[in-house]
Amino acid sequence: NPAMPANFIEIIINEDIKTGKYGGRVHTRFPPEPNGYLHIGHAKSICLNFGLALKYGGKCNLRFDDTNPTKEDVEYVESIQEDVKWLGFDWDDRMFYASDYFEKIYEYTIELIKKGKAYVCDLSAEEIRQYRGTLTEPGKESPYRNRTVEENLELFEKMRAGEFPEGSRVLRAKIDMSSPNLNMRDPVLYRIVRTPHHRTGDRWCIYPMYDYAHPISDSIEGVTHSICTLEFEDHRPLYDWTLEALDIYRCQQIEFARLNLTNTIMSKRYLRRLVEEGYVSGWDDPRMPTISGLRRRGFTPESIRDFCERIGVAKSNSTVDIALLEHCIREDLNTKAPRVMAVLKPLKLVIDNYPEGQVEELVAENNPENPEMGSRTIPFSREIYIEQDDFMENPPKKYFRLSPGAEVRLKHAYIIKCEYVVKDEQTGEITEVHCSYDPDTKSGSGSARKVKGVLHWVSAAHAAKAEVRLYDYLLIDNKEQDDEDASKDFVDTLNPHSLEILTNCQIEPSIKTAQPGSRFQFMRNGYFVVDYDSSAQMPVFNRIVSLKDSWAK
Ligand code: ATP
Ligand code: MG
Ligand code: MG
Repeated sequence: NPAMPANFIEIIINEDIKTGKYGGRVHTRFPPEPNGYLHIGHAKSICLNFGLALKYGGKCNLRFDDTNPTKEDVEYVESIQEDVKWLGFDWDDRMFYASDYFEKIYEYTIELIKKGKAYVCDLSAEEIRQYRGTLTEPGKESPYRNRTVEENLELFEKMRAGEFPEGSRVLRAKIDMSSPNLNMRDPVLYRIVRTPHHRTGDRWCIYPMYDYAHPISDSIEGVTHSICTLEFEDHRPLYDWTLEALDIYRCQQIEFARLNLTNTIMSKRYLRRLVEEGYVSGWDDPRMPTISGLRRRGFTPESIRDFCERIGVAKSNSTVDIALLEHCIREDLNTKAPRVMAVLKPLKLVIDNYPEGQVEELVAENNPENPEMGSRTIPFSREIYIEQDDFMENPPKKYFRLSPGAEVRLKHAYIIKCEYVVKDEQTGEITEVHCSYDPDTKSGSGSARKVKGVLHWVSAAHAAKAEVRLYDYLLIDNKEQDDEDASKDFVDTLNPHSLEILTNCQIEPSIKTAQPGSRFQFMRNGYFVVDYDSSAQMPVFNRIVSLKDSWAK
């Protein structure tokens, strides 16, 4: 959107183009670790990185940051590609894996050791932590810090050859144990991990750490602006140190604020627990904040891109109201989704003065917000269903729906008047509402009579039965749920009513065979999408979002 003012990253890029820093090039990357499914926070990063490449006529790589074999899997590699494509972005022939660089990174590391800038350390993980010191206390040097280059080369080669057990040794950068930045106190560069890797199998038993592999990968790919979230701000000195120490192509790291959403947690660790412990049906459960969950819920790629544009890019963390995301899908579907009639909790209604056996095909416009969508016909007959909620025997004041003696309009049809009700003798429950209709009030006939209430309905003989799934937030709490909270027991914050399944809904015949992924507005009930669980016997719809917009502009 050219009307938007430049964000702080664009200001940096504009300046770099002006000074010719990278010969005017803009080259970004989206670097997911394939250890889970992408979520709405990743969408922000995808829109930002691919969006900048599009805006500046540059390039954006998709790079799998697969340096941690214990948590990664090809299932995730595949889902990530699907999700990025679905969001509408294209990496062309620029899909890479950090694991493709293992050999190169190893070679660079040999050079680093030869320069005296890295050493093999035999301290345990716990000892390394203790030696590191704290923010107020300087670190203590490892007793292995002053090994000779020859000794380090020999030990590192043996680490690679698999001569040492997991966890027994690491390679560390030799930087500064008294640095005020803890990340610079001789950080670990390589560790021994004896888990087969999803791509390199058991070719390697040493793996570079993220903070070390990332700048090298960026450098190898010729990335210009390496955009990451704010937590990495105090890792930037290590990013820069790595490139400088190796004396290779210098790219720059820029940090932006990650997306936090109310009622939502995005840490993959937490999302994985929800899946593995069965709180949701899978990564694509429609309540999940994953891209695949949002897709199954019925969100469009356009609505997610619009959301990412509206939230913008900032340098300090904040929490976005999830109502904005809901607003974006309503805005998108308003002109796209046909209006249809579906009754979620049916109540039988009989029009006693309507001829038995007669069926009228009524003309109904598909979308008053978009006349190009045309119209369809819907059958009308003597017996219909309305919503249970649209009838009250003893209504309060200002109840404009149906009650004994009251009149309402049936959408696209006639004005009806409630004459009497039939109740179940045992339970006292209302089983049928009996009405009369006024034949002179057919919609579109120019009838002058007006009534306040307009109800949706379906013809009982023509409607199809369907299942409808209504969703609420997974988390009760609407305050910020950041990564830190993931360590608390989230089970306490789960909403026990996040899913309501209605199995006796009645839908108008035009949508009986709608294909999975088709979206509709069920009049007065919200926007819905056909779920992939749908079958000819039992169509299944997910509610994407209700019609009530709580987003305060
Ligand atoms: P998580 O903490 O959810 O596991 P991650 O940052 O470890 O996420 P990666 O696969 O490493 O997951 O992330 C890939 C890219 O997406 C990174 O550049 C990261 O900065 C970005 N990203 C992840 N979460 C968010 C978020 N909530 N908002 C914006 N960008 C994000
Ligand atoms: Mg990560
Ligand atoms: Mg993570």
